[in-house]
Amino acid sequence: MEKAVLQPSIFVLCDSCRWCATYTDKSRARDRCPSCSSSALSSFPVMPDESFTFSYDEKRGIEMDFGRRRR
Ligand SMILES: [Zn+2]
Repeated sequence: MEKAVLQPSIFVLCDSCRWCATYTDKSRARDRCPSCSSSALSSFPVMPDESFTFSYDEKRGIEMDFGRRRR
């Protein structure tokens, strides 16, 4: 059985200004926020077979939702 190589995307979030981006190639991720130049960046991988939603609300804060994609 052949196994596909799952390349995780990298989700990067700025802790300072809430800028965020998803990089499909982690070598392109920066270590500084392009918006406010802060180095306080959080990053974590997002697997291609996971659904991922991100929302930011001033009252509720950051909401992140991970789940398995339905096939
Ligand atoms: Zn920032």
